[in-house]
Amino acid sequence: MTLNIPIQWKRATTVTGIRKRDCAEIRGRTGHILLLEGERSGEFLCGARIRNQLAHELLNVNTKTDEARVVTCQRCIKRAQQNKWAV
Ligand SMILES: [Zn+2]
Repeated sequence: MTLNIPIQWKRATTVTGIRKRDCAEIRGRTGHILLLEGERSGEFLCGARIRNQLAHELLNVNTKTDEARVVTCQRCIKRAQQNKWAV
């Protein structure tokens, strides 16, 4: 399956928090599709809850790198297929 998403996006995992002791990021394991353009810019395609908006903006939206290697979220993939973004 190839994702062919017509707007800017990246792979990302959720950031659930920052560990106080050493400031390490606490992240989910699932690789989601994070939309970077349009009405839903900054949101995960599947609607995964963003629990820490500030950390999400700093560590996901405003970084250049993809934070997940692959998209593993089945709900994101399903939505992409529904939008005809996956072949
Ligand atoms: Zn997802």
